[in-house]
This record gives sequence, C-alpha cells and structure tokens, in this order.
Amino acid sequence: MAGGYMGKLLFVNLSTGVMKEEPPDENLCRDFIGGYGISARLLYSRQKSGVDPLGRENTLGLLTGPLTGTPAITGCRFTVAGKSPLTGGWGDANCGGDFGPDLKFAGYDGVFVTGVSEKPVFLFIENGKAEIKDAAHLWGKSTFETDDTLKAELGKTARVVSIGPAGEKLSLVACLMNYGGDAAGRSGLGAVMGSKRLKAVVVRGNMKVPIADADAVNRLRQAHMAEIKGPGLEGFHRYGTNVHTDESAHSGDTPVKNWGGIGVIDLPDVSGLNKDVVDARVARRMGCWRCPVACKGRLKEGTGDYKYPADTHRPEYETAAAFGAMCLNNNPEAIAMATHICNSYGLDTISTGTIIAFAMECYEHGIISRKDADGIELTWGNHRAMIAMTEKLARREGFGGVLADGVKLAAERIGKGAGEFAVHIGGQELGLHDPKFDFPFFRGKPTAARYQMDATPGRHTSGFGPSQFEDYVLNASGLCLHSDTLVPEPGKYIAGYMSAVTGRDYSMDRILKCGERIANIRHLFTLREGINPRELKVHGRIIGRPPRKEGPLAGVTSDIETQINETLDALDWDRVTTKPSRKKLLELGLDDIAGELWP
Ligand code: SF4
Repeated sequence: MAGGYMGKLLFVNLSTGVMKEEPPDENLCRDFIGGYGISARLLYSRQKSGVDPLGRENTLGLLTGPLTGTPAITGCRFTVAGKSPLTGGWGDANCGGDFGPDLKFAGYDGVFVTGVSEKPVFLFIENGKAEIKDAAHLWGKSTFETDDTLKAELGKTARVVSIGPAGEKLSLVACLMNYGGDAAGRSGLGAVMGSKRLKAVVVRGNMKVPIADADAVNRLRQAHMAEIKGPGLEGFHRYGTNVHTDESAHSGDTPVKNWGGIGVIDLPDVSGLNKDVVDARVARRMGCWRCPVACKGRLKEGTGDYKYPADTHRPEYETAAAFGAMCLNNNPEAIAMATHICNSYGLDTISTGTIIAFAMECYEHGIISRKDADGIELTWGNHRAMIAMTEKLARREGFGGVLADGVKLAAERIGKGAGEFAVHIGGQELGLHDPKFDFPFFRGKPTAARYQMDATPGRHTSGFGPSQFEDYVLNASGLCLHSDTLVPEPGKYIAGYMSAVTGRDYSMDRILKCGERIANIRHLFTLREGINPRELKVHGRIIGRPPRKEGPLAGVTSDIETQINETLDALDWDRVTTKPSRKKLLELGLDDIAGELWP
C-alpha cells in the first residue's frame, strides 16, 4: 500500500450489524486520492441510482485523505459524503477539527455506513477494531453534550463527530459537528446520519500513518511554513475568516437582505460585523489538529441578551454573513448566539441564516403573518426574532418545522408566492459571496457558474471547471484550502506533499488529471440521479437579472451562460446534456461509465 493510507476501509451495515473491512484498491487511491474522490467513485460503483437519501440503501461515507494526520501543513481534514437529501444529487461536506487524523490513528482511511439501526447507536473505533454501541442515552442531546458524555465515558483522547437534535429530526439542513464547532455543513448529511439512527462516530488510537519519505515531508513543511509566515498569517490567525465581514457587507461581496438588498443602503451601520468587535469577545485562539495557522477562536461567555456559554466557537465569515447582512442584523452577540444554537443542534449555518432571511422577507410581504410565525415578529434586523425562530427551526417546533428543510421546501409549504423569495440552487442555499462581485479568492474561477454547476450546487468554496482541479485534490488529500491561499504561489506544495507521503511520483500534471477525474465522478453521480445542473433554475438576484440600479453592483449582470458554455467546452462535457464525452471518460480511465453513458 502506498504511504499516507492506513490500508483499511470499514463498511458498516446498521440494519444487520455486519461490519466488513476492505483494503482500498491501489489504483483507486492513486487516481481518486481520498475524501470525496474515493467516496464518489465507490458510491458510483456500489450504490444504485434513485435510492431514498434517507433510506437504508443510501451510504454515508466519512473519508480522510492521504495527507490527513501527516506533517503536511493543514493535513487535518476529512470529508462526509453521500446522496444529498437536500438536492437529490451528490452531496459532500468538508470538515477540519480533530476527527480526521484520529480516524487514521484508529486504523482506518474511511468508514461507509449503510442500513438503518433499530435503535440509536454510535460507532466506536479503536486501534483497528470497531464496535456498534448503544446511544439511547445520547439521543436528544446537543452535539456539545454528546461530545462531553462520550469523552467522559471513553476518555479524553476520544475524538467525536456527532449529529445534534436537528439531524435526529431529519432537518434537511442538518450537519455533522466535530471539535466543538467544526461542521461538515453542506448537503444535509446530518439528516442522512439521523435517518440511520447513528448519533456519533467516536475514534481513538495511536497507530502511525505510514509516510514514504518523512525527511522530504518535513523539508516541505519547513519551506511551506516559511512562505506562510508574514502579515497575511498574523491577520488570519487573529481574525480568521471574519477579517472582512463588515467590508464585504458594503463592497457587494456579501449578499444582503436575502440577496435582494444593498449593504450601503439597507445596512449602513456594519460596526457590529467589524473584526475587532468580534475579536474583543474572543477568549482564546485555536486551530484544527496541529495547524500552525490556527485561524479559529473561542468566545468569552455571552453577556446581555445572549447568554451563550464560554468557549463556544467564534462565528466564521459565512455564518456572520448569513445571520448578519442577510438578515440586516448588526448585533454581534446575536450572531454569536445563532452560531452557538446551530452548532449545538447541528445545523448548517449558511442554510439556516438564509432560511431566516427568507422568512423575514415573506413576513415583510405579508406572506407570513405574525400568527403564522408563532407570534414572532420577523421584521428585518430584529435579532431577537432571528434567534427565536432559529431555535424553533432547530427543534422543528411550530413554524420552525415549516422552515427546517431549506427555503425550497419551505416556500412550497407556505405557498402564496413565497417561491419568489426562495434563493437556492437545486434545493441548497448558496454560499455567501455574491458572484457578481470579484472576490479575490474566486478570481479566475467562473463564479456564478460554480454555484449552479457544482455537483453539490451552492457550495461556498467550490469553483467550476479546470480552474478547480487543483483544489479538488487539495480537498481530497486532506489539506485545508487555506494552505494554498496564504502562499504567493498556490499549488506549489501539493504535488511535493503527495509524492513524499505516498511514495508515488505526483507531477503537477498528474495532480490536475486527478482533480479532473474527481470533478467528473462527482458530476456523474449527480447526472445518474437524473439531475442535469444546466437545467437548474437560478434566481435572478444571484446573477443580476434585472441588474441593480444602485450600490456597488449597479448595472452588473453575470454572464452565466458564457461562463457555463466555455467551462463545459473546456471540460469536454456536452453543452446541453452536460454529459462528459466518451473520449474524456476513457482518457480519465472511467471506461465502465463510458460504456454506460455512450453504449
Ligand atoms: S487554516 Fe484554519 S480552517 Fe484551515 S486547517 Fe488551519 S485552523 Fe483549520
């Protein structure tokens, strides 16, 4: 087995209780790397299309990459994957924290769970052995309580990924939580885990990740670290992704007022979103497993109206944007409280904040009355209402139950024209960077098209097309995308790390080819589910149709058609059906799928 891999995948059937181990195929690892690459390829091969995402046949994968748990800088990530109940297509979510490395130290590259348990259970994996254990005492507990309880029972060195009550109640915007605030947020995979009555996966171990050339990895780490150091790192370490939240609310980067507003007009005061205001509430800085960037923070105890506990997670940019500018809210304590509620119940903050903004707009237009909203006055900027409704959504209580499955389903349930205000693509709420704005992180990546065309539509970090191939490998390898954003020459280290850890010769060309293969297999999964992303409806607000008359994005319309056509051509995917050409599939070694698609 190549270096970087523990050489074992665990397959668990919760209906039967049967667990099997399999070594991952060498070629699978070589060509699909890990994370969502290996998950998508395996699920494409082993899971038939059309299964109920919340049924026993859907598979939930938790996968590391070959660089997870190695000295490669930011090598801490893992991916959660499966068929998404929110979109009906491919679903994945990437997570930092401390679970990924310890899954490998416990002896496995990944776990695939099918079936449905009769009663709540958790999976305990320790040094190459796995056990299904009773979780009746954990059902109904928050993710924080679950973490604490399992560590009290199994020892402080246990690492936990769990769902909260939102996942148990099958909210389609539920997520998995690790490390007290790191979320595998997107795609509604918390509901998939809840549907299996799987409350948590707990790992513990002291096995070593094999590394082909440890000296070379350490040399690369030193060189990488020397390049990362500097003002960029200091700012990112101190403020994290929150460094620009206030500026973004006014520049046109952050969508405002449910994508329908203009920051400088609708939310003139953004002082509460300022990085130093947020930073003043930070008690300690921290990072994911052994990450020297350490871009995260934990807060002091909440004061005033919002009594969140000490040590809860500082909001990240996307969360602050969702519960800030999207709801016309400038109260940082309310944003911290919303973050705490979502993390505690296990909800994706991007989707949840967007749902509240949608409800506020429905309220403004008289589509929802105060009576409908359980007596809550859902006016713009009313942060008390925002928190009250977030709690209801998290508990699936009253009107919160109408909202708990995302804006698309909520609009269908509400009727009365609510669909006009439901901003989503393919069922999923969008990441909170307006594609009409030229945000540096997405420069050169077709930004409107990425929201529509990614296999998991609306993804906040994805690009679309060849510009994304390297990032696909970063994600699949177990590195954090920030490992690349903080160096002057993105992509400089991935090939070196992959070669030194695995012992295989990964040139940059080979890295890009692997990224292309991953792009294709994720897309092919969605396509096989009968979803052609080209046909997904894109809300006019996202692309500026009609264009704004005022503000920083006045007159801007994204030429999404050209972006999509040019990128489809570059991918060698059909402009209408989006089917990859037979030639492309053969070139990528996907001969079996070429036979299916082009008989
Ligand atoms: S840069 Fe931040 S998010 Fe990325 S691995 Fe490090 S601490 Fe985690």
